[in-house]
Amino acid sequence: TKWIYDFSEGNKDQKDLLGGKGANLAEMTNLGLPVPPGFTITTDACRYYLEHGDTPPELDQQVIEHLTALEKAMGKTLGDPDDPLLVSVRSGAAASMPGMMETVLNVGLNDESVQGLARQSGSERFAWDSYRRLIQMFGKTVLDIDGELFEHALDEVKREQGTDLDLDLDAEHLKDVVARFKAIVRDETGQDFPQDPRAQMDMAINAVFDSWNSDRAIIYRRRERIPSDAGTAVNVCSMVFGNLGSDSGTGVAFTRDPGSGAQGVYGDYLQNAQGEDVVAGIRNTVPLADLENIDKHAYDELMTTMSRLESHYRDLCDIEFTIERNKLWMLQTRVGKRTAAAAFVIATQLVDEGLIDMDEAVRRVTGDQLAQLMFPRFVSGGDAKQLTQGMNASPGAAVGKAVFSSEVAVQWADRGEKVVLVRRETNPDDLSGMIAAEGVLTSRGGKTSHAAVVARGMGKTCVCGAEELQVDTKAKKFTAPDGTEVNEGDVISIDGSTGRVWLGEVPVEPSSVVRYFEGEIDPESDEADDLVRSVHRILAHADEQRRLDVRTNADTPEDSARARRFGARGIGLCRTEHMFLGDRRQLVEKLILADGDEERQAALDALEPLQRQDFLEIFEAMDGLPVTVRLLDPPLHEFLPDLTELSVRVALAEERGEPDEGNLRLLAAVRGMHESNPMLGLRGVRLGLVVPGLFAMQVRAIAEAACERRRAGGDPRPEIMIPLVGAVQELEAIREESEKVLREVCERADVAIDALIGTMIEVPRAALTAGEIAGSAEFFSFGTNDLTQMTWGFSRDDVEAAFFHQYLDKGIFGVSPFESLDREGVGTLVELAVEAGRAARPDLKLGICGEHGGDPDSVHFFHEVGLDYVSCSPFRVPVARLEAGRAAL
Ligand code: ADP
Ligand code: MG
Ligand code: MG
Repeated sequence: TKWIYDFSEGNKDQKDLLGGKGANLAEMTNLGLPVPPGFTITTDACRYYLEHGDTPPELDQQVIEHLTALEKAMGKTLGDPDDPLLVSVRSGAAASMPGMMETVLNVGLNDESVQGLARQSGSERFAWDSYRRLIQMFGKTVLDIDGELFEHALDEVKREQGTDLDLDLDAEHLKDVVARFKAIVRDETGQDFPQDPRAQMDMAINAVFDSWNSDRAIIYRRRERIPSDAGTAVNVCSMVFGNLGSDSGTGVAFTRDPGSGAQGVYGDYLQNAQGEDVVAGIRNTVPLADLENIDKHAYDELMTTMSRLESHYRDLCDIEFTIERNKLWMLQTRVGKRTAAAAFVIATQLVDEGLIDMDEAVRRVTGDQLAQLMFPRFVSGGDAKQLTQGMNASPGAAVGKAVFSSEVAVQWADRGEKVVLVRRETNPDDLSGMIAAEGVLTSRGGKTSHAAVVARGMGKTCVCGAEELQVDTKAKKFTAPDGTEVNEGDVISIDGSTGRVWLGEVPVEPSSVVRYFEGEIDPESDEADDLVRSVHRILAHADEQRRLDVRTNADTPEDSARARRFGARGIGLCRTEHMFLGDRRQLVEKLILADGDEERQAALDALEPLQRQDFLEIFEAMDGLPVTVRLLDPPLHEFLPDLTELSVRVALAEERGEPDEGNLRLLAAVRGMHESNPMLGLRGVRLGLVVPGLFAMQVRAIAEAACERRRAGGDPRPEIMIPLVGAVQELEAIREESEKVLREVCERADVAIDALIGTMIEVPRAALTAGEIAGSAEFFSFGTNDLTQMTWGFSRDDVEAAFFHQYLDKGIFGVSPFESLDREGVGTLVELAVEAGRAARPDLKLGICGEHGGDPDSVHFFHEVGLDYVSCSPFRVPVARLEAGRAAL
């Protein structure tokens, strides 16, 4: 096996084998850039080492061969007493793990070769500085000695010299430092600092291998979902020296601003220093632009090199370099990390520079990045005090007065106040309060709790699971861990992107990207900044490329209109249950409590005109585009008061000796309807079959609204969706009833309305019998929330807070299946249903309306299985457009 590659042998595409650093060092070498020669020991060797606890048997021989070749090329031998070759031993995994693993510089120095180095370089100070650095780094990372011991010893010498600057120490002082460092090694390990250069190198190599399994590396990998068995490569690189004097130095640079994407010179430089010093903040660095004055020649070469790297990698690069006596050396490069805003700006800049095409620009950005750009931002902390950090459930920045109930939220918002709704957790009753509030803060529940899911759907800022907060809704206050009490009316700020919660107002700025989507900023005008212009161009291209249509989930005219501005082509899910809340609750209660057909019909008759008005406005907002209306889905008892609260009220009334007839009846009804598992109970089509006239009323409202729109010259395109179907018979019964109503309404109005009737596929049985169901359905819309819940048997209201974090830790899944569609399981059901459905009815329309419709990975899946559209909340519409475009490339 070939375990070692010379820098001249590899290339940038071999990251898995050579690690990111090694692959890019090889690439730069082959570009003819000034890289100090060296070689890379592969990640294969690391994996062998981790598995067997020892290096592969051939490795030693291969190290000798490559080292000998290196020595020949450099004209020096490792640790030679007269003129030593020194090397760095550097870690470098395939996935970047910044600062997670180890690097040792100046390997090859010992008591003798330090003298040789001094003679050759003409600087004793430099030689001893390098030696003390070796012992310090080697001691810490290879010998596992507490780094503080070295730092204390160094500080002590500095103190004795009355300085706190490294540079004030001369050769004699540094010799003293070396002596003290060697003593530390002896004391801590019982052995002398190893003098054999080759032993130093081998020990350092093994230490890099071992660092793969250091605690912080393990934690980092888990968080970043990097496979734990990938291993790291080891780069052995001949040393160049930035600590040879003021004509030397070391620095880091970006080819453009990773924060904004702006072009220019970005980086830091430190004279007379070695590697770590720049980031360690030991001395003040200067801005890279100053290098032009310090060393014009090296600066110019660096600029040329950076632009070569950019055009070669066709992307922003970050760079580590060293200048040794006016000569530039490149020590590292990689395609650099950047903010979401910079990602967009840079992508279109590169198009304009002719380096990439628009397809590539669209590939270079992600829906997640776009989503980040859509939320308002806190400008900075100001003087607000941070109280705690909860979960970042729905991004955004919200500032408002703390309120502890939905009623107060609505009242205060109505009189123009900004409020943040604070609850222990939320339930469907809090919806009006959530809508009224700027943001929502809960102390319980995970990222898929009611608060989190609803807030994300509405594009509302939410911090959930802030468990350190004691929320007391009765007393209208919460208490922070430091004892701070926040009462109703106190202003708080919550950041849904970080989960941070402050007392007081943190300044906020609106997102220019959203103002652009809203049509408030013309991308061609001067008002548009680079970011808006890039987003506009990239989305336009994604729209051209995508095959998936994007619709929205909306149940108000305002949401519909906004989604349309955001680019939605119709509604994929209009939930009618939201239309049953608020003032209409009374009517719904009457419907549920109806004693006999007559009372029931009266309740339905009262609801119908209200429903009709809702649909009328939505059809108007979505004129000419399809509007999929889902008939009532949730269990009826959700529209009734809470069982416990009601029981208490009734009991109290009885105690006072004034029993309340109405409440007693209500209580009986609530009890009668109580289900231990409502999600699997009487809801959706089951309700439609059991409560006579309910679905017919809804269909009539839809049909009449459509006729009225048509008569007014509009172009309504209703689609009627039956939820929770598991058997074709259920669908057929409702379908017949609906068609009859449609016919009657149209005949009476003398208007032709062509309403599609279809179903949701959200019960596994529906997916498994999709062929039959397609016989009676003109469209399928995958309800992937319920489908996930029922396929996994996970109650989504419970599992996330209860144990999902453990599932994530144990790697049972990398991401919650409610967030990103589980391809193997739920996805297989979707595929089955698509295939069987299309086979039975070739023109079957296929869409998806679960939360997954706005999730980037899931959008790619829906593209792959050939759906016609995805539907998502208004704020996810641009994200879905972008990802649908990316999926099509
Ligand atoms: P990290 O992965 O933490 O960035 P590196 O292996 O890049 O670690 O090493 C850190 C720094 O050490 C480099 O940025 C560079 O300044 C310095 N360094 C590494 N190898 C050499 C070398 N051969 N010559 C000079 N400096 C080096
Ligand atoms: Mg580095
Ligand atoms: Mg459902």
